[in-house]
Amino acid sequence: MVEVLRRGTRHRIICPSCDSLLAYWEKDIEYKADYQLENPRYIECPVCGADITVPPEREANRNDDT
Ligand SMILES: [Zn+2]
Repeated sequence: MVEVLRRGTRHRIICPSCDSLLAYWEKDIEYKADYQLENPRYIECPVCGADITVPPEREANRNDDT
């Protein structure tokens, strides 16, 4: 059985605006002030400045397992 000694906390996402491949950590995530949003989590693309919605924490971790 494979044992996880340390779960990675880096996430990867492709900017839908400029197609850049980005790496980000939980600390990079910002939250939009609009409380009506189901998922207010986002990062700002350092290449084109677009706001990129990122998955909820649990989902993001699952994506990292692949
Ligand atoms: Zn971008």
